[in-house]
Amino acid sequence: MVSTRFISTLIAAGILLAGCEQRPAADTIIYNAVVYTVDSAMTVCEAIAIKDGKILATGSNEQIGKYEAAERVDAHGSALYPGFIDAHAHFVGYGRSLFEVNLYDCKTWDEAVERVSSFAAKHPSEVWIRGRGWDQHLFPGGAWPDNKKLNELFPDKPVLLQRIDGHAAIANAKALEMAGVKAGTALNGGKIEQENGKPTGLLIDNAVDLVTRIIPVAGKAAYAKWLQAADSNCLAAGLTTVADCGLPYHDITMIDTLQQEGRVHMRVYALLSDDGKTYDEYMAARTAALAGSNEAVKACYTEHGPYKTERLYVKGVKAYADGALGSRGACLLHHYTDKPGWGGFLLGTQAHYDSLAAMLLPIDMQLCTHAIGDSGNRMVLEVYGRYLPQGNDRRWRIEHAQVVAHADFDRFGTHSIVPSVQPTHATSDMYWAGERLGTERLGDAYAYRRLLEQNGWLPLGTDFPVEDISPFKTFYAATARMDAKGYPEGGFQPQDALTREQALRGMTIWAAKGCFMEHEVGSLEPGKKADFILLDHDIMKVPAAQLLATKATAVWSGGVRVH
Ligand SMILES: [Zn+2]
Repeated sequence: MVSTRFISTLIAAGILLAGCEQRPAADTIIYNAVVYTVDSAMTVCEAIAIKDGKILATGSNEQIGKYEAAERVDAHGSALYPGFIDAHAHFVGYGRSLFEVNLYDCKTWDEAVERVSSFAAKHPSEVWIRGRGWDQHLFPGGAWPDNKKLNELFPDKPVLLQRIDGHAAIANAKALEMAGVKAGTALNGGKIEQENGKPTGLLIDNAVDLVTRIIPVAGKAAYAKWLQAADSNCLAAGLTTVADCGLPYHDITMIDTLQQEGRVHMRVYALLSDDGKTYDEYMAARTAALAGSNEAVKACYTEHGPYKTERLYVKGVKAYADGALGSRGACLLHHYTDKPGWGGFLLGTQAHYDSLAAMLLPIDMQLCTHAIGDSGNRMVLEVYGRYLPQGNDRRWRIEHAQVVAHADFDRFGTHSIVPSVQPTHATSDMYWAGERLGTERLGDAYAYRRLLEQNGWLPLGTDFPVEDISPFKTFYAATARMDAKGYPEGGFQPQDALTREQALRGMTIWAAKGCFMEHEVGSLEPGKKADFILLDHDIMKVPAAQLLATKATAVWSGGVRVH
């Protein structure tokens, strides 16, 4: 005979089981937050549930409170946003720059040389001394530097110091000698500055590559050091995905390896460098992998060209049409206002960009081309226009789209060409861009609002380490168009400022779309990866002056707290 006690135990257990079924399981819930989902309706709610690294649900405290979860986080009213995405950065370059001579903010060239000397004293075993960040606009009279002092101090050690924009560098005589660079060295799309028939050490655009290409490739330990430092700084800043715009194949393999080992959390959208060999190396690796027996690796290669893992997506090529405005390498339709007779230069022939476009079109790869000057932009718009019919979804991008001829704006919309812009460039360049361009051209430069209107969406980035990594600086520059001191009053060309909602989308869902990742990241919707951040200020609400003081207090990537 079955005892009544046993039956009542069974009933109780049955109720408990039924109760469990009614309380769906999550791993983590976060409640009492102001959750900006950045979905298409810009829904704001209170709570979010996470399971298996993905978003399970968003809703009110009550709706999400019904989930069973081992971890329940009270956000105490903090704002919760999707992890920010930088659609144009140099993640590897930034990581490396953290271990080079820091020349940012040097007020004189002497100060730069002093920093090089103290770095060299502290790192005697470095074979090459590399530095980055000098800007002649900060030097007295804006004078360009030369290598004389470096030659005296470092007669036997090669030194290469890149300008803040990476489009110019000073190389000492030893570095030039090792690279075989002389005053008369033949060169397309660059400049070897000379005086009395001898190079001064100043190299512009493709001339810089003549030296960088002979620097020995670093080993895995160096990459681990660079990428882990970049990773923790970027996560702390609130970034969870970055597009690295132009990498040699070796760099991509290092990112992949370190991600797989769990040492780098950042999701990386990687563009291959257009350097004549990276693409071939990538394709050779692809062919070898597909012919091999490692099924896990094979599964990462999608049908045509791209490669995709949980955290890495290789799906395009980054090319350069011209240089930068600061070093007068940007290619202009008319001469520079402050340098009569000089219009900059293209870094390649039109035939070259045509061949790239023809090669990438059939294999599902994206083409992203740097163009700063109005002539550079026109050339790229013309090339892309030959391949991209109206209404296409190839998302080929023009990086920077900085100075666009008035008549050319509509070409972005006509061919669905995506402008990919960096709002802090506007507020960094605004002090001197008018000298380079004159008033009329300046009016059509950094025209982010008009570029946004072309396709109805606009990915935003920073171009770090050219600019700081901070997404809050991007948000502030895009919306206020002022520097940290509130200059200029009313903002620089405020008619081209973005609204806060546009800037937020630009740093999240539109940046994701610019990297073909909008189904995975960029908004907080069920099924997407649980990449999100808590902020100490709500950037949609605080006064503009407080935006720059905003910090990410907690960061999750794939449902795991990483900062
Ligand atoms: Zn860049």
